[in-house]
Amino acid sequence: MDSRDTLYVGGEWVTPSTTNTIDVISPFTEEVIATVPEAGEGDVDRAVEAAEAALNGPYPQLSADERAEWLRKLSGGIQARAQEFADTITAEMGSPASWSIMGQVFSATMVLDSFADLLPTFAFEERRAGAFGPVLVRKEPVGVAVGIVPWNVPLFVGMLKLAPALAAGSPIILKPSPETPLDGYLLAEVIDEIGLPKGMVSILPAGREVGEYMVRHRGVSKVSFTGSTAAGRKVGAACGELLKRFTLELGGKSAAIVLDDADLAAQIPMLMPNSLMNNGEACVAQTRILAPRSRYGEVVDAVAAAVEGTTVGDPTDPSTAVGPLVAERQRDRVLGYIEKGKAEGAKLAVGGGRPAGLDKGWFVEPTLFVDVDNKMTIAQEEIFGPVLAVIPYDSDDEAVAIANDSDYGLSGSVWTGDVERGIDVARKVRTGTYGVNAFSTLDLKTPFGGFKSSGMGRELGPEGLSAFLETKSIVLPGDYQPS
Ligand code: NAD
Repeated sequence: MDSRDTLYVGGEWVTPSTTNTIDVISPFTEEVIATVPEAGEGDVDRAVEAAEAALNGPYPQLSADERAEWLRKLSGGIQARAQEFADTITAEMGSPASWSIMGQVFSATMVLDSFADLLPTFAFEERRAGAFGPVLVRKEPVGVAVGIVPWNVPLFVGMLKLAPALAAGSPIILKPSPETPLDGYLLAEVIDEIGLPKGMVSILPAGREVGEYMVRHRGVSKVSFTGSTAAGRKVGAACGELLKRFTLELGGKSAAIVLDDADLAAQIPMLMPNSLMNNGEACVAQTRILAPRSRYGEVVDAVAAAVEGTTVGDPTDPSTAVGPLVAERQRDRVLGYIEKGKAEGAKLAVGGGRPAGLDKGWFVEPTLFVDVDNKMTIAQEEIFGPVLAVIPYDSDDEAVAIANDSDYGLSGSVWTGDVERGIDVARKVRTGTYGVNAFSTLDLKTPFGGFKSSGMGRELGPEGLSAFLETKSIVLPGDYQPS
């Protein structure tokens, strides 16, 4: 994508309020691939003003079916340019092309389609029998919303916010990360092409300070934040102080429990994409693999073979499974964790450094530690790179206890020959989404979010739509009959 010099504010391409710019750097070539404006506070003010006007305009008054139609139009517009979106995201953050088209793009259009499917049957207004007579319980748009998006799955996470906002009738201002502003420009073009009513969406790429300004803005009623737990705490604190509604989707350190009756030949290959997807830069990544001591050697061998066989390289090459990490600082951070793992006594089984022959690009070898104690830093902290840890356990109860011995609780899975036994384990793990022999733990029609430090609130499904709605009760006269 070419460089740009305008911002998409409330349905118009405008000259930015400052001359600040963002250089987008390819994690593969380490070269600047495009330069775009960095939004400033003046741009946020303009976007909020446009959103407030839209909130009082026709869009929030549309029927649920009409709003569903807009979501489908947007989904169709993105699908028509799907490869361009995928290539752009691969270029800006290094997601392998083999994963981008589905993981980055069609996952996003499926979110739009899921909310479009939900709208016709969602109870926006229902008559209930109250204590003294009939009551009308209404769900109304929450007001102007802000969606703050990380760099790892920018279009998909953007859609986790934009789709329910438009489904609810709430205008939204999206803030892409400075690492990945380019797909946001393509999204703005599609929104422009389909002619979405003005003011409903603004897209303002910017860094943390402008993000903080958005969160605290007087005109903003709701903040939906996805990012690190550290930043999420600050956003939550600001929203608490100002009594703004908020949803936080934060970090994870999820455990995949391999039970002693698992079919390793069939199930380890199903588990691995959950562990290394998107270069390991995934909040739901299953980075702790819990292995029964009775079959410990077999699990280690199967996982080690899979990690060793993972192709690393040019993210645009369709045969690449793991590409470069988003930024030099992220590469250094991941290498720092690997050193810590070694220093704390974990045994390095595969990888552990920069891959041979790839001198340019922010690569880290797919890495496997074995004989890991769950108290070690590499088992407790989110690494956000292709680094896995195998941890032994003696009983199902101990496996559950290890899985739960974490500040996080975002995702997880269990692998077994007995689904009922798997469901029993799933019920005991303190986490927001879970898979039993499932290739993905995230279902686009059901709630997604974290226990503990992995977040607050839920996205997707009716719960995700409710997060962009306020509830109003209208008490009616006792003898009221609808006309
Ligand atoms: P980050 O927290 O540094 O930044 C995320 C976004 O928040 C960026 O747009 C950033 O500019 C903005 N931001 C940072 N501090 C802010 C503040 N105080 N106020 C307002 N905005 C602020 O995270 P990152 O490095 O971009 O993303 C990686 C993190 O995101 C990982 O921890 C990962 O687990 C998490 N993540 C979570 C989910 C989920 O659904 N739970 C999904 C994807 C990523």
